[in-house]
Amino acid sequence: METSPTGADPRPSLPTDPSLRPLRAVVDLGAIVANWKTFQRLSGAAECAAVVKADAYGFGATPVAQALARAGARSFFTATIGEAMAVREALGPGPAIIVLNGPAPGEEGAFRGPGLVPCINSLGQAARWSQSRGGACVAQIDTGMNRLGLRPEEATEAAALLREEPPFLAMSHLACASDPANPMNEEQRARFIAAAAAFPQARRSLAASAGAQLGAAFHFDMIRPGVGLYGWDGMDCAATPLACAAVVTAPVLQRRKVRSGETCGYGATFLAPGDLDAAIIACGYADGFFRTGSGRAAVAFGGEALPVLGRISMDLLIVDASACPALAEGDRVEIIGPTIAAEAAAAAAGTIAYEIFTTCVGRAGKSYRHAAF
Ligand SMILES: *Cc1c(COP(=O)(O)O)cnc(C)c1O
Repeated sequence: METSPTGADPRPSLPTDPSLRPLRAVVDLGAIVANWKTFQRLSGAAECAAVVKADAYGFGATPVAQALARAGARSFFTATIGEAMAVREALGPGPAIIVLNGPAPGEEGAFRGPGLVPCINSLGQAARWSQSRGGACVAQIDTGMNRLGLRPEEATEAAALLREEPPFLAMSHLACASDPANPMNEEQRARFIAAAAAFPQARRSLAASAGAQLGAAFHFDMIRPGVGLYGWDGMDCAATPLACAAVVTAPVLQRRKVRSGETCGYGATFLAPGDLDAAIIACGYADGFFRTGSGRAAVAFGGEALPVLGRISMDLLIVDASACPALAEGDRVEIIGPTIAAEAAAAAAGTIAYEIFTTCVGRAGKSYRHAAF
């Protein structure tokens, strides 16, 4: 190693990891636990599970699952077996870890060692699971999404195939729960009750974050909130107040004058109507700050929203900082947090908070607060 005359490494703090981007997220595990408890209160006597798929929606599956397990969560859902293995590693034996995607052909044996529970989503999976003497499983019934799960009319045959490995949970998923007035909610509930009767010994679960807010008739024995744990209630009209679970920030690289009549960014789409002060932020679409938010999104500093000017670049964006004379090079602006809610950022980019979480929070370098919960 090259050393300076004093013997010290001359570049001790240079960020040499090319995967390390300037975007940072401080994840508040206390807020995630508080949000889980909000859903637990909402669920009454029903169990409140926790969905931690996609690296806990970008917030980090290991610290999130550990915090929720300490708070009392007993069932965790992941999308894939790889995610489930990581959660088992994080939690040790005890909590149920349920894999929504189910076992691929030949994968059945991989569930048993770490005690992972697959969703059985088809008659083929039911037959293979039974042949492999797989043990505990969950029957997922599709009641209207045509996504994953047994068709309702297959439930009886699946129950027969799984005679020796009876599912301890029968579950389904709502397509339109974000809209309480949608008649499909009640239609799916009725279809679920009818099909789940094929598994009389199983507990029942229908509601995710939004469904849990449709009332006790949707709670059955377990609710499965995901996005609500991370701070968005999942409803078209905000219904349940939740705590902000991450503050994502990026640094100011430069402050510069823009003169009246000049333009900003690629395509010269922003034309300055008067002199203004721009700040150049080290955050772009490679950080999950969607380019579709060009000219519409905002960041914030000291509670003040700073609108994005012109197009968002790969690693940079330009904001109007005229209202914040104190904002200087090296300061960090809020990308997501108490001022810029994920659902507002999502609306500006033409997407949903789920995608802001999985990309923006997901790609940020993360640190954790309230980790001692
Ligand atoms: C993702 C998912 C959930 C959690 O949904 P949220 O809307 O994030 O609460 C629950 N159940 C199933 C089957 C899912 O795919």
